[in-house]
Amino acid sequence: MPRALVTGIDGQDGRYLAELLVAKGYETFGMIRGQNNPRGQIVRDENPAVELIEGDLQDLSSLIAVVEQVQPDEVYNLGAVSFVALSFRQPELTADITGLGVLRMLEAIRVVGGTQNNRIRFYQASSSEMFGKVRQTPQTEETPFHPRSPYGAAKVFGHYTTVNYRESYGLHATSGILFNHESPRRGLEFVTRKVSNGVARIKLGLQEKVTLGTLETARDWGFAGDYVEAMWLMLQEDEPDDYVIATGETHTIRELLELAFAAAGIDGWEKYVESDQRFMRPAEVDILTGDATKARERLGWKPRVSFSELVTMMVEADLEEEAHRAR
Ligand code: NAP
Repeated sequence: MPRALVTGIDGQDGRYLAELLVAKGYETFGMIRGQNNPRGQIVRDENPAVELIEGDLQDLSSLIAVVEQVQPDEVYNLGAVSFVALSFRQPELTADITGLGVLRMLEAIRVVGGTQNNRIRFYQASSSEMFGKVRQTPQTEETPFHPRSPYGAAKVFGHYTTVNYRESYGLHATSGILFNHESPRRGLEFVTRKVSNGVARIKLGLQEKVTLGTLETARDWGFAGDYVEAMWLMLQEDEPDDYVIATGETHTIRELLELAFAAAGIDGWEKYVESDQRFMRPAEVDILTGDATKARERLGWKPRVSFSELVTMMVEADLEEEAHRAR
């Protein structure tokens, strides 16, 4: 049985990836931080086959102990401070976890793996936020980076550290440059879920308005379930590499709102949405569009869920969850 270790197991992607790995017959270990972290229970309930193991990306000795204990064939490094707005408020913490955390995990693999360190395959969760103020459209693996947030800058560090460990030590280290991906498991702080949850609550009479920053921001949004499949496919390749994962389609927050309110059967969405300066960032990333040609040609990967299907899926899930909570 192959063995996989996933950091960030209780995050959106960790939960989908755990399901995929267990279904593929992996002995799956999820790293969880803190003492008796309550989010571990979500993973246990959803997926009892996953074994949870304590560790923290801020603590190298814990990572060495985890890698030694698990003896993984594949490591998926999904753990991070992943919310751009928070990274502006806590930049040092973001640099430490989202940036240096990658270096610590690679060091743990190098130290434990010894001369056979390319035996352990490593996946780094890189991000389209590295492109930031975009230099070309659409963005490919060759597009220069110009991050616009402490999160983006930390991800650039993690990306190049991954490339560096591949080139310096022969590690099987791959960087997946994933564009935004969402699901009913997305955290409530992220705009897509804030909208789907807000719309559900308005429909049920539990809330009056959704308050957002700019509505013109445009993103290439896909479904998280499709994107974790791309992560797994990348690590099945004999040679480690970098891959852009995206739909190639761009939609604005305005379009997201139109679709979400329509999915709940609410007309005239404008009267339920207000804008607040507090949600504007010191530097915005206006538009991102990915070109996943390399992933399609080499890995045979393509997204299955369309943007409108994704928005409908999220609104329906929030309607069910909020109605259940209100009962
Ligand atoms: P998420 O839901 O925010 O999950 C982040 C995970 O990181 C959580 O499990 C969190 O654990 C963990 N974590 C935070 N600090 C940690 C630490 N010090 N040590 C160990 N784990 C720690 O994020 P996601 O959407 O699943 O994304 C997964 C990864 O892909 C992240 O690295 C993200 O930056 C990257 N990414 C995401 C997207 C996207 O659109 N979703 C796009 C590109 C890249 P706690 O529950 O304990 O906080």
